[in-house]
Amino acid sequence: MRPTQAAGTTTGEAFQDGNVLAGPFREFFTTDLTTATGTCAACGRAGPLAELRVYTHAPGMVARCPECDAVVMRMVRGPEAAWLDMRGTTALRIPLPGE
Ligand SMILES: [Zn+2]
Repeated sequence: MRPTQAAGTTTGEAFQDGNVLAGPFREFFTTDLTTATGTCAACGRAGPLAELRVYTHAPGMVARCPECDAVVMRMVRGPEAAWLDMRGTTALRIPLPGE
């Protein structure tokens, strides 16, 4: 996966798409969350987590909304625990197999 140059952001930092979250998520969740639909708290955009812009060179990972560039998710993995800050996401719709 090649980093992409952020278009329309003031920082100009390279980011990757939300599929980069699949690896760490697989460690905490049994369902593939990259197919889940997240709703941005700032602009209300709903879309798959795979479409988020993920900056991996911060301490941990920072995922931004592709519509308004707001931070929707932060994740830090320490040696014994992980922190997932989702205050920028109002809802997460996780597809599950039918019962
Ligand atoms: Zn947004």
